[in-house]
Amino acid sequence: MTAFLLGIDLGGSKTEGVVLRRDGSEVMRHRVDTVKGSYADTLTTISGLVQHLEHQSQCKFDRVGVGIPGSVSPISGLVRNANSTWINGQALAGDLERVLKRKVRLENDANCLALSECRDGAARGAASAFAVILGTGVGGGLVINGRIVSGAHGLGGEWGHIPLAHEATPAPDCFCGRRGCMEQYLSGPAILREYQAQGGDKVARVERVSDRAQAGESRANAVLNQHLQRLGRGLGTIVNLIDPEVIVLGGGVSNLPGLLDQLPSAIAPHVFAQADDNVEIKLRKAVWGDSSGVRGAARLWED
Ligand SMILES: [Zn+2]
Repeated sequence: MTAFLLGIDLGGSKTEGVVLRRDGSEVMRHRVDTVKGSYADTLTTISGLVQHLEHQSQCKFDRVGVGIPGSVSPISGLVRNANSTWINGQALAGDLERVLKRKVRLENDANCLALSECRDGAARGAASAFAVILGTGVGGGLVINGRIVSGAHGLGGEWGHIPLAHEATPAPDCFCGRRGCMEQYLSGPAILREYQAQGGDKVARVERVSDRAQAGESRANAVLNQHLQRLGRGLGTIVNLIDPEVIVLGGGVSNLPGLLDQLPSAIAPHVFAQADDNVEIKLRKAVWGDSSGVRGAARLWED
């Protein structure tokens, strides 16, 4: 068992690597731009990052954990369901093992987030935790008794592509080929689309909508309240299905002011319980923020 762990998080805009001590303290971290659209460049980026981390930390690693915005089919071994679509259909684990000349484990990035937060973050000590990423995309990850539940077909926790109930049709198309997925209502781009659909101008960041809401703009407030209600409905399905001890929120959209405080009352009407059951849903923000995914990726080889 080595004293250090190395993880890589292949994000939509940034690819990050970390060297972690087993106690969770970081030796170093490094972040580079993700080259979009090219699988060959993805391999080169990850390989370069591993070399950089090894060189700078003076550590050698024979195992690397990688978080990806998709999952690996346990049947074909190929990546699927990634919104970074250029890695879909690729034998990423095998190709990385060949390029890096060491063992590689791939895991869905939301599962990595859930693992990280269960180990030493917002869900530390919890028997079960469901983590959601609300960012450019939307994903979910489940950890029970310290282990990722990726399911019989690697599809466990794919909350982002469950249709959101009680929405008017036609539902928006999703990159996955289905319609009306959570991601199409709850992601950052979805909020910006909704703001425009309700007559707002084109803005680049969710923070701008949030600033306008705080300044009293009724349209921005309506869009964010609609998002809150949708998120409550979406998380209600998780409570009814899994009833996790903790729900962890990560991703840029989870930083919207007041979201965490208002969310329990948005979830409650959708939970199959009576008022006197006193169901108290523990909602927490990811302690490790944007770095939780990469820390969880490093922990894929913890055992
Ligand atoms: Zn979808």
